[in-house]
Amino acid sequence: MAEGPEKVVIIGSGPAGWTAAIYAARANLDPLVFEGAITEENRIKGTLPLGQLALTTEVENYPGFPEGIQGPELMERCRAQAVRFGTRVITDDIVAVDFSRRPFWLKSREGKEVTAHAVIVATGARANYLGLESEERFRNRGVSACAVCDGALPRFRNRPVVVVGGGDSAVEEALYLAKFASKVIVVHRRDKLRASKIMQQRLFANPKVEVKWNRIVVEVLGNDEQGVTGVRLKSTVDDTEEIVECSGMFLAIGHTPNTDFLRGQLELDEKGYIVWKEPFRTVTSVEGVFAAGDVADSYYRQAVTAAGTGCMAALDAERWLSEQGLV
Ligand code: NAP
Repeated sequence: MAEGPEKVVIIGSGPAGWTAAIYAARANLDPLVFEGAITEENRIKGTLPLGQLALTTEVENYPGFPEGIQGPELMERCRAQAVRFGTRVITDDIVAVDFSRRPFWLKSREGKEVTAHAVIVATGARANYLGLESEERFRNRGVSACAVCDGALPRFRNRPVVVVGGGDSAVEEALYLAKFASKVIVVHRRDKLRASKIMQQRLFANPKVEVKWNRIVVEVLGNDEQGVTGVRLKSTVDDTEEIVECSGMFLAIGHTPNTDFLRGQLELDEKGYIVWKEPFRTVTSVEGVFAAGDVADSYYRQAVTAAGTGCMAALDAERWLSEQGLV
């Protein structure tokens, strides 16, 4: 039997989710947040509660913290602020929804069912991996999708590391890693980077960086004792292969929005991001369902923009609920 109806349920616990909760709570909407479950599956996927910021270290560009703040601390503080205004939090994932019913129906991984007049989806996005078996074997033992989280670890210091990808993230990660590693080898599948020109210039100017063009990683090499010791590369223009010695492989090959549970329920774009149906509004294809943060934004992807759209989603939800006479 489903509990509810809630006025608003918020799914997700990054800057978008907590900002939506702070605004909804202060508007007396008594929000209920599903912050995600603490499971091994979510750890491996990078979808634990508190989102991607919980996987970073220093955040230097979030306004209000001139000395910087640690990503996990920033998220804990946002959560505490939401709770202070009465937000209720459930540490579980939403795995199924029915947005064709009113009130909307939601089900959690542990089997809890709730109904809600309005829903704010703020489930964010997760880093992509290549999908190799050997990559899986060495996850967190040299294979990482977050240079800022792991780059300063002793295993990478003064040793060569590989970065896979050709976008701004790959360049940013390579430049960051060049501070610690003896050498950074960027492996890109084409002969041109996708990254912006200024980022490319910085990359090419860094003496520690080498780019391996037209190559893909086909195997991560290593052993139980040392973790990653190298990668096997294959050319994308002929069949030649080579082995590059390295202590780590950092993936920067894009992100996937966490929208699997929304397929068939909301309009998503070709990459799976939720589509905002009006400019400067967080409205989705279903009236009463709003989206905030990286789950609907593959472009800006910043903590502060996620927080901004979280605020917008709460205001949009509040106005919509009031227009419908539901609050
Ligand atoms: P992206 O621009 O989509 O780049 C992903 C890169 O990974 C591409 O070079 C792509 O190769 C490669 N790739 C994808 N799948 C691959 C696979 N299976 N095997 C090998 N390579 C693969 O992603 P992003 O770099 O994360 O950037 C996302 C957005 O955030 C962009 O709009 C970017 O400008 C922005 N961003 C900005 C900054 C900044 O300005 N400081 C920093 C980070 C991100 P192809 O090029 O061949 O497709």
